Amino acid sequence: MATISDNLQRVRARMQQACEQAGRLPASVQLLSVSKTFPLAAVVDAHAAGQRAFGENYVQEGVDKILAVQALGLTDVQWHCIGPVQSNKTRLVAAHFDWVHTVDRLKIAERLSAQRAQDLPPLNVCVQVNVDGGANKAGVAPDELLTLAQGVAGLPRLRLRGVMCIPEPAPDFDAAVAVFARARALFDTLQQAGLPVDTLSMGMSDDLEAAVAAGSTLVRVGSAIFGNRPRKVNDATA
Ligand SMILES: *Cc1c(COP(=O)(O)O)cnc(C)c1O
Repeated sequence: MATISDNLQRVRARMQQACEQAGRLPASVQLLSVSKTFPLAAVVDAHAAGQRAFGENYVQEGVDKILAVQALGLTDVQWHCIGPVQSNKTRLVAAHFDWVHTVDRLKIAERLSAQRAQDLPPLNVCVQVNVDGGANKAGVAPDELLTLAQGVAGLPRLRLRGVMCIPEPAPDFDAAVAVFARARALFDTLQQAGLPVDTLSMGMSDDLEAAVAAGSTLVRVGSAIFGNRPRKVNDATA
């Protein structure tokens, strides 16, 4: 059976090849390993294989793992909240995570900023954008992205880092690149507006190559590293 260490090597090789094919430097794309639903032991294994950035969807599960990893004395671990954040969860996110990728309302951003302790570094924030237009999907509409990003950038305890998206699976590689390219274009408009963004969070186990081709700087990979997740009834909600 493939170990987490084997899987990490394979994912890193896929990322490197995707970068070569796109004429990009391998160092320009970061790997976020998505450990949601997997136990502490999986995080410890990935850490032993050199992985330092972890993503969690469910706030309480994430906080439990963060505290357990700290109790083990593992250092240099970065925690990214990549699931939906409801108002009643902002305090936990502000207290325990280093990043949140899923801000899509100013009200949530304001709460996170107000609740981020002064002795912690600012919370890194990506604004989630709904690039493929599903009415019920999370993420700000593309034409509202700039206003929200400017609002986030103006909050004292947040640091705006960029844009995140989760498009529906595309029928083929070119279609996937085309959707990711929309997020890339939106990211570029934030830069052109003078916002100091450096992170384009897109690409998962099945479509990381297309995301890298379109300019992703951070891929969020779960099952290709940790294996298949047990099915959850409400996989989309925290
Ligand atoms: C679960 C999840 C991932 C990882 O998905 P895989 O297909 O397992 O790689 C990435 N991003 C978000 C937001 C997720 O919820």
